[in-house]
Amino acid sequence: MVDATATSGQPCDLCGSASFEQISSRDRHGKPLATSVCLACGLVAHAAIPSEEDLDRYYTSDYRQDYHGELTPSPRRVMRAWLNGERIHAQLKPYLPEGRRLLEIGAGIGCTVKVFERAGWNARGIDPNVGFLNYSRERLHSQVTVGGIQSLAESESTDVVLLVHVIEHFRSPHAALTRIRSLLPRGGHLYVECPNLAAPFAPFPKLFHFAHIHNFTPITLERMAAVCGFRLVQRFGDARDPNLQMLFAADSAATVDFAGGLAATRESLGRAAPIAYHLRPSYLVGRTKKVLGYLREHLSARAFVGEIEARCAAS
Ligand SMILES: [Zn+2]
Repeated sequence: MVDATATSGQPCDLCGSASFEQISSRDRHGKPLATSVCLACGLVAHAAIPSEEDLDRYYTSDYRQDYHGELTPSPRRVMRAWLNGERIHAQLKPYLPEGRRLLEIGAGIGCTVKVFERAGWNARGIDPNVGFLNYSRERLHSQVTVGGIQSLAESESTDVVLLVHVIEHFRSPHAALTRIRSLLPRGGHLYVECPNLAAPFAPFPKLFHFAHIHNFTPITLERMAAVCGFRLVQRFGDARDPNLQMLFAADSAATVDFAGGLAATRESLGRAAPIAYHLRPSYLVGRTKKVLGYLREHLSARAFVGEIEARCAAS
């Protein structure tokens, strides 16, 4: 670990401390990217939080926002997104009252929104990337509009919010979750999925990515939610799962004791040694299954997507 003190000038988004230690100087592609851990709570984030302008520039080049909605996603991409939406729906169904209002922030192609709509929900989504918008609307008939969390109307309200691989992109997850809390009645739900820094899924130097501004462990995610008014209802997946999957209920903002957070983060980072992980028999079996899965996917995606487009058109 690099032993240096990094100051972005911004306090920690979770606990407000200004005391950080730099833990990495490179991103997963070897480009310079300083990453720090908060010495008070263990939250890991970029040492310098990028400005809105920096992020706009990054997303404009990376996600090609100049396509104005005319992109068509590949069948494989649609099939994966649809199956992921079905997984999320099946996972959450036992915990949620049926057929309420649902808002997905960062809805992507709109498959998850459509899966919930077809299950009787009043479901809609917003996404800042306009690339697949026409496809979502015209082929899936999914209620997805262009926008980010800032674009939500003052009076907006809903019963459930989904944040799937989105929270790590926020400049301030604290501000975002506080805004989301204001959309929900007490007892409403928030579901968050994001990369799990505590899972040994990548070699240490490969962990960090410019677009992932905050990197959560199970502890820092649960505490971030707690300070913003959410109580953990259920954590899905196990400790080795590369993604955190947590369902929260809207409650009162809690006063959180940050003790143990830093030690847990350090332990996670110390464990991020890839060799043993990648040679585990279960990893190799999983990997082989995945490759076979790709093959099956390639062969069946077109038919699968044709069928869901027909179902969506008919509903
Ligand atoms: Zn902190």
